[in-house]
Order: sequence, then structure tokens, then C-alpha cells
Amino acid sequence: MSAAENLGELLHRNCPNCETDNSSRPALDYSWQDWKLRKCGACGFVYLENPPDYADFKVVFAWEKNHGDRKVRMRKEYPLAYGISRAWRKFYRWAVRKPDKLIKRINKWVPPGLVIDVGCGNADRLLSLPEHYETSGIEISKALAEEAQELLATRGGSITNLPAVEGLASYEAGTASGVLMRSFLEHEQKPVELLSHAARVLKPDGVAIIKVPNFSSINRRVMGSRWCGFRFPGHVNYFTPASLRSMVEDAGLSAVGFGFFDRFPLSDNMWMVVRKGG
Ligand SMILES: [Zn+2]
Repeated sequence: MSAAENLGELLHRNCPNCETDNSSRPALDYSWQDWKLRKCGACGFVYLENPPDYADFKVVFAWEKNHGDRKVRMRKEYPLAYGISRAWRKFYRWAVRKPDKLIKRINKWVPPGLVIDVGCGNADRLLSLPEHYETSGIEISKALAEEAQELLATRGGSITNLPAVEGLASYEAGTASGVLMRSFLEHEQKPVELLSHAARVLKPDGVAIIKVPNFSSINRRVMGSRWCGFRFPGHVNYFTPASLRSMVEDAGLSAVGFGFFDRFPLSDNMWMVVRKGG
């Protein structure tokens, strides 16, 4: 079945980094089925040119059904197995005490106050935040947003059921201590717009924490098309350390935490902590 039949109308994107139309350039060999990856002729950024239209409700629904949060389904269909597996993971985390990479960065960088999780899913990340944070999240899926709101009721906090850019646009300027974009920016069709809103909503001492797959990783070079970072059509932006840095700067942010081990070439992912201003 073609992508168009499966997920409705496909969009056309220019380079999300510099707006160049690259449709006349050959698609990269990494492209798959109907999905076309382009490398921008002007700035070198790699992106999916023809993603599905997530503004279309039917697409979001289809997406959830086919690729949605496994946990939601597990919890509904196999509550006992879900409970046991959740308890086991909790125990394992306690026993191994490997610090969670996100929590570690939050504790180090995010001052007390409002934290906005972009693409919060069922609020599992928000629920794990220390008590001195006020939690809130943005989630495009209606089902997940409802579940998140329910789960968050115990500690307070609000969920906005909107696409990320519109969701973040609804927050007041200069109000957030932290904006979390963990494994999110690679999915966002308008990454510069989203980052600009992050810059707008942050307080002067607030930070955004970004985690994305690293297209420059050694694993991608070795594995080629089989690299785990290629997801069609979910991943629409393929960042390198240089392009991520240039994009956050274009949005009015600057990297304050982006050391060698945050963009370690042997890891498939990279982490960046950014603050408002140049
Ligand atoms: Zn470009």
C-alpha cells in the first residue's frame, strides 16, 4: 500500500533550516518507499520532504492506531502484564540506580517553576519530575492528552491538546523555567518555529532541553539505511551537531550544555541544553 493511501494527503516541505526548495534534487539513497529524504543544496540539512499532514485529524488517528504509544494499548488490553512490567522497570531503575539522563539535566539546569513537556504523551515524564516543578504538557493526540490529564490530576498541572507549535504559542511569554523536547524535534515539521516559541516562553534563567537522534553518529555511517534513527514517516528532520546548533541560534537560543559527551559520536542521540539569547 502506498503512503498516500495509508495516511491521506502528503505535504511538501522546503528545507526547514533555510527554506530552500530542493524538490529538483535527487532523493537520498536513505529514502524508503514513497518517503523522500532530501539533502538541502544550500545548507546541507537532511529532511523528509513529503510527510503526512498531521493537522488532519484522520491522520493523527491512524498514526495513533498504527504507531501510537504501546503503553496505552498494553495498559488497556493487558493490565496485569502492564502492571508487572512497570513495577519491574521501577525496581530495576532503583536497583541499578543509573541516573535518568533527562532528570539529571533537569536537576542541573532547570530552576524551580513551570515545566512544559512538548509531546508529553501520557505524562509519564512529567509524573517523574521533582515536586518543586509545576507540570504542564502539550499533546496532539486526543486519547493521550486525556490520559495525561487524568494521570496528572494527582499532582496538578494542565495538558494542552494541540499540535506542538500552536500549543507552545498558547503559553505566555517569559513564564517557563523549562521546556522539554525529548525525542520530539525530529518529528516537528516546523522546528525553527517551535524553537522560537520555546525562546519566547522561557524566563531569562530558564532552559530548554533537547534530545534528538544524531545523523552524524558513527552508527549511522556504519549501518546506513538500517540505522535505528531512520523512521518513516515519523522522523522528518535529521540533525547533526552543527545543524542543531545553527537552528537553535536562528531561533534566538544559545547552547549552554553541549559538551563532547552530549554529542558523543558513538551514541545514536545527542542532548543539548539551550537558553534564551545569543
Ligand atoms: Zn537548507
